Amino acid sequence: MLNWTKEVRIISREGYLVIPAFTRRLLNIEKGDALAFYVDENKIILKRYNPSHGGCGFCGNVEDLINIKNKQVCQNCLQIIKKN
Ligand SMILES: [Zn+2]
Repeated sequence: MLNWTKEVRIISREGYLVIPAFTRRLLNIEKGDALAFYVDENKIILKRYNPSHGGCGFCGNVEDLINIKNKQVCQNCLQIIKKN
């Protein structure tokens, strides 16, 4: 379900983006938490990233992982590797 918080933020000249306090409280995101960026067509999706859970060794993605010789690789990176 999509929760549209109707908050708009401007990306700073340096490329910084502040996550609105309301959104942080809603998702229990605290200072120091790591977030992973995903791109889906024209959308940017932010998900909590926990390095202790592993994640793709190339991009940090934590979904659709397979294990190759004790290294985690996501399906997207695997496709890129296969093409090259
Ligand atoms: Zn990856």
